[in-house]
Amino acid sequence: MKYVFALAGNQNSGKTTLYNALTGSNQHVGNFPGVTIEKKEGQIKKHRDASLVDLPGIYSLSPYTMEEVVTRDFILKEHPDLILNIVDATNIERNLYLTLQLMELAIPMVIALNMMDEVRASGNSIDVKKLSEHLGVPVVPISASKEEGIPELVDVAMKTAQEKRSPKKLDFCSGEVHKAIHSISHLIEDQAKENGYPVRFAATKLVEGDEPTFKAINVTENQTHIISHVVEEMESALNTDREAALADMRYSYIEQVCLDTVIKKQETKEQIRSEKIDRILTHKYLGIPIFFGIMFFIFWVSFGAIGAPLQGYLEQLIGNFTDFVSKLMIAGNVSEWVYSLVIDGIFAGVGSVLSFLPLIVILFFFLSLLEDSGYMARVAFLMDKLLRKIGLSGRSFVPMLIGFGCSVPAIMATRTLSSERDRKMTIVLTPFMSCSAKLPIYGMITMAFFPENAALVMIALYIMGIVVAILSGLILKSTIFKGEPVPFVMELPAYRVPSKRSVLLHMWEKAKDFMQRAFTVIFLGTIIIWFLQSFDWSFNMVDDSTHSMLATIGSLIAPLFIPLGFNDWRASTALITGLTAKEAVVSTLTVLTGTTTDAQLSATLSTMFTPLSAFAFLTFTLLYMPCIAAFAATTKELGSMKYAVLTALYQTLTAFIVGMLVYQIGNLFI
Ligand code: GDP
Ligand code: MG
Repeated sequence: MKYVFALAGNQNSGKTTLYNALTGSNQHVGNFPGVTIEKKEGQIKKHRDASLVDLPGIYSLSPYTMEEVVTRDFILKEHPDLILNIVDATNIERNLYLTLQLMELAIPMVIALNMMDEVRASGNSIDVKKLSEHLGVPVVPISASKEEGIPELVDVAMKTAQEKRSPKKLDFCSGEVHKAIHSISHLIEDQAKENGYPVRFAATKLVEGDEPTFKAINVTENQTHIISHVVEEMESALNTDREAALADMRYSYIEQVCLDTVIKKQETKEQIRSEKIDRILTHKYLGIPIFFGIMFFIFWVSFGAIGAPLQGYLEQLIGNFTDFVSKLMIAGNVSEWVYSLVIDGIFAGVGSVLSFLPLIVILFFFLSLLEDSGYMARVAFLMDKLLRKIGLSGRSFVPMLIGFGCSVPAIMATRTLSSERDRKMTIVLTPFMSCSAKLPIYGMITMAFFPENAALVMIALYIMGIVVAILSGLILKSTIFKGEPVPFVMELPAYRVPSKRSVLLHMWEKAKDFMQRAFTVIFLGTIIIWFLQSFDWSFNMVDDSTHSMLATIGSLIAPLFIPLGFNDWRASTALITGLTAKEAVVSTLTVLTGTTTDAQLSATLSTMFTPLSAFAFLTFTLLYMPCIAAFAATTKELGSMKYAVLTALYQTLTAFIVGMLVYQIGNLFI
């Protein structure tokens, strides 16, 4: 016998934190709505017979967003043994709105009243026993982040599941709504049961006019008539529409319950503090300049002040290790081609990418601080006005921001958007955000051409990505994606001190991901590149790589880039291998130029590019189609390969045009 618990609650109520505490796993926690987008399952610690499913955060059970659909489908179709409803105690009224709907599902349920540490610290209190009596559901006060009350919660949950104790009370409606719900309940009772729908839930949803429910329980035409009639009567008696009537009914019940159970002397310290901070950070005029100031500081530290010296150290370390292996191999008298493969291929290629690890770790340290503190949610709010101008809502900022890390999760994160139009447009635009894999490319080129202004050039590229996305958005808005973005609704969580654990975890995940790519895709890529550039078409090893197979292939494409100011088979080959993973541009160029030191590499690069054409090259790498993994994600999310190919063509064409403009216009001035 195995129990399945479904963890459901509002966004940012601490679900993932609780999930991690209960299962001992390390899922990503963020003080930022929309972080968890897929359900995850894990085993509860010390209870081999119980597993927990972390569902995306939702505010109601109406299927407006993908998250609501995922959560609702899971509960209705998979019939979990227990719903573990997590409620943010500092925001109890709003959180109970979902609770009331979950109770209607007639599945055993336990409420985990989270964030009690904050409630206590502010001198407020909640009468847990009374709350539990009012709702007819066990309530356990906890603090997920401080791991308080977790064993008690597990005990109560196990007991409730074993006893199959469903919520005692369902009937918290009154007056006209009560009449409507009850008459419809009688009408559809048998059908609902036959189709495995809880009667009360089905009736409420039919009153609300929820289409999927009408279909799911096969409401007949005749019944539909009766239902509309009942609903019309209710609407005219209450003088509101059907959805508002139900919302009012729930909120007035919640109000009663809270009056009796919550003693709120003041807002929590965190809320008071948040309001003060927000007066500055979300200021009408200062907000956006402050955001750019912060980002500038982060880039400066990551790429300049701290990142650059650390990268230097790591490079040296890798260099020393390469020397060591090289001497060993020479001493061991290994054959020439093995030596070349290992030193000129693998070590040069993988090593050149690996040395960028510090930049990425530092950048993500800061980004996770911003995310975990709750600031990023504010930025989404600030950006809403701007994004609206290009036909998107502030909601799209979430995936775009994730896009600065990696396009793959970013494209997946578009699932949190409720409108198909917003979703598709965001998928097309997100890859313009400069992902972290492009950083090594910027690093390599700036080192060779703009050593004095490295940070500035990098910031310029990041900004260029954003600007191109904006312009591109404007074009798409008035052509393919006509229509209005959905209104922006996102709750601003209280600012919190980021937890060390979650920040470290985030950094570790990034580092691991980066290393994994270095030792898999990049590793394989460098071997293939080494092979193609070391042999000619009759498989003889060549002394000069200009006679290699790769040179022939690369030379075919190279002239395409003449408008961008460069025409070198090594550069065009690097752009192609960059499709496997963007870092491969760096490893390919390193392998192809056959250089071992930075100075040599820089010298060779300056025979291939002028500073201006080098910048055009960077522009192209910034904007052209993302790597294969991101392409696959696009295919999946757009639902068709055709649209993914069109998207990739669009991106590559944009890259070409912008790169050409950079070079041609730059030429007029220089
Ligand atoms: P989710 O969106 O529901 O998965 O929420 P998360 O687990 O990502 O948590 C949202 C934020 O609330 C994070 O910043 C957590 O550190 C914080 N948090 C979670 N539980 C508690 C708690 O019990 N007390 C306090 N003070 N903060 C918490
Ligand atoms: Mg979460």
